[in-house]
Amino acid sequence: MNPINLQSPIAYLKGVGPNRADALKSELGVHTYQDLLNLFPNRYLDKTQYYKINQIQRSSAEIQVVGKITDIRSVGQKRGKRLEATFIDDTGSMQLVWFRGQKWIKENLRINVPYVVFGKPNYFNGSFSMPHPEMELLTEHQKGLKIHMQPIYPSTEKLSNKGVTNKVISRAVQQLFLDTKARFTETLPQSIRDHYKLLPKDESLLNIHFPKSQELLSKAQFRLKFEELFYIQLQLITKKILRKQKIKGFTFDQVGTHFNTFFKEHLPFELTNAQKKVLREIRADMGSNAQMNRLLQGDVGSGKTIVALMSMLLALDNGFQACLMAPTEILATQHYHGLLELLQPLDIPIALLTGSTKKKQRTHIHEHLESGELPILIGTHALLEDKVKFNNLGLAIIDEQHRFGVAQRAKLWKKNHTPPHVLVMTATPIPRTLAMSLYGDLDISVIDELPPGRKPIKTVHRFDANRLKVFGFIKDEIKKGRQVYIVYPLIQESEALDYKDLMDGYESIARDFPQPDYQISIVHGKMKAEDKEYEMDRFVRGETQIMVATTVIEVGVNVPNASLMIIESAERFGLSQLHQLRGRVGRGADQSYCILMTGFKLSNEAKTRLDTMVATNDGFKIAQVDLELRGPGNLMGTQQSGVLNLRIADIVKDRDILATARNFASKLLADDPSLEKPENQMVRHTYMALAKHGNIWTYIG
Ligand code: ADP
Ligand code: MG
Repeated sequence: MNPINLQSPIAYLKGVGPNRADALKSELGVHTYQDLLNLFPNRYLDKTQYYKINQIQRSSAEIQVVGKITDIRSVGQKRGKRLEATFIDDTGSMQLVWFRGQKWIKENLRINVPYVVFGKPNYFNGSFSMPHPEMELLTEHQKGLKIHMQPIYPSTEKLSNKGVTNKVISRAVQQLFLDTKARFTETLPQSIRDHYKLLPKDESLLNIHFPKSQELLSKAQFRLKFEELFYIQLQLITKKILRKQKIKGFTFDQVGTHFNTFFKEHLPFELTNAQKKVLREIRADMGSNAQMNRLLQGDVGSGKTIVALMSMLLALDNGFQACLMAPTEILATQHYHGLLELLQPLDIPIALLTGSTKKKQRTHIHEHLESGELPILIGTHALLEDKVKFNNLGLAIIDEQHRFGVAQRAKLWKKNHTPPHVLVMTATPIPRTLAMSLYGDLDISVIDELPPGRKPIKTVHRFDANRLKVFGFIKDEIKKGRQVYIVYPLIQESEALDYKDLMDGYESIARDFPQPDYQISIVHGKMKAEDKEYEMDRFVRGETQIMVATTVIEVGVNVPNASLMIIESAERFGLSQLHQLRGRVGRGADQSYCILMTGFKLSNEAKTRLDTMVATNDGFKIAQVDLELRGPGNLMGTQQSGVLNLRIADIVKDRDILATARNFASKLLADDPSLEKPENQMVRHTYMALAKHGNIWTYIG
């Protein structure tokens, strides 16, 4: 046990005091000894290495150099006033620079005496300088304790201005280790540690702050990352288990007439193995007496709709209603027409409810829904309105979930006394590790196979200068009877400009593709719903060959005869959006193409995005690149989740550790769901504290 209480306020620690404590609290959230202990260094300085001045690179991080000061002077005026010293070794010279504390420094620095300086070199006009270096006389440096790797702690400008330098933090941590005799409570049981060869807690903490070697540092990092991910996964999986135990769902134990008739007589194609697998998973879920909460991931065009329909038929066979909610009116309408056609032979009533549904029709729907005469409802957010009451909603399906918030999902639940089964479908593949963290409390099904006979879409990148050739290609495709999308970016911030681009583009296309040989549809967000629908319809029916649009057509729209997707200013789209757009073609039997149009000037990131699109059609690979490019913070859904609060693990780089930790957590819970076994008491104790504090590092220690 610790000889001191780790919950003590940080101000009590020797060498900290009230002023520094305030800065630590406000800048780094360090309130207690414990917080300081769990403030892990961002990186380490290799103290075994000394640089010569002529070895310094423009990319150098903090380095240490041995040399002498030959001359000190004040330069500049007023605010630009600074102290500069020329620092030399036997290979060259650089400037040391100070903006603060100039008087004291000038009085204390010694000329022509060997110093060791640490700092980050800056490059300007052909020479290097080092602002505010840490300085130590070489003689002192040689006497001091040998530290091979100096920890570099997170810092802010305010902190260093208040004198809380890296040295100060590092000394405070040393003090903490002295006071506690470097003994800390273990939080992972021996069995886990043995299994994964993890360092004990004390040794990990010691080596994360003061690594004895690179090897021990790696081991310490591994142990702490494992611990962090293990407890988060334990929490997510427990949530899932609790939901299954507590929330009783409707039991759909019948596979009845609707499902069977449809399956045997009206299925328009044979299901892929992946579709069958997923349907089995859904059936098993809805057949148990727990509420289903399942995420269905499947790349664009993988055939999620039919899975949704058949799940709805299961609900109907068991005497329940079902609904499907889509994020846009176009999508909801298209789902409605598609499902209407599939359901025709079964004679099952189905209705569409959106913002533009007429009052009379709306009232009719409300009544029939409440009486139970209407078994299937398709719609937009309009489904969430309070007036929409079901007789007995058994299954709610949400398409393209990343557009709906968690709160909206919850609202659907509340439509019944017993929450309906929920199936969330997304076409934006989420890398496995991220899915485990974001949706770790949901069950996940994946359709990882496309219907047979699909030809991979050929994707190319073309510069605007080649537009004429591209137009020629469009004409060739249209001659073959195919249809073409031309998509323009629409980004909120520059909406007016974007509309101008869209309209200019439309006019130039109209000039190059004149009537009556060519017919053009245009769809954008500023149009009335009925006009949009009219234009969409003409394209769906093949009356127009070209669809000029903004990203409103991004999700779900299905026109199998369309074989060419042109994306204008493609560098302005994110990867997942590009992938979604491309997914609008390649839905029929013909070879399809996607052409990414850009100007010559491209950022490196934009180049990577375009190259990735050209290289692969695999949505999961694209999602992984997206995650690596942008980090989890910019991906849908991450904001509300805890993945951004990870202290030491990295959701992108540490995916193997995450998988291992999750695996272990789920085995442990399968064996001992309420953590009652004696050998699991340490886990239980830590877990309870986690549940209480929310953040794992405020209590682990
Ligand atoms: P998404 O997963 O993107 O929602 P859809 O459900 O819209 O995909 O299906 C895309 C297209 O593939 C549709 O035209 C659909 O009829 C067709 N399709 C779905 N499953 C199969 C299958 N097993 N065999 C052949 N075609 C299929
Ligand atoms: Mg779809």
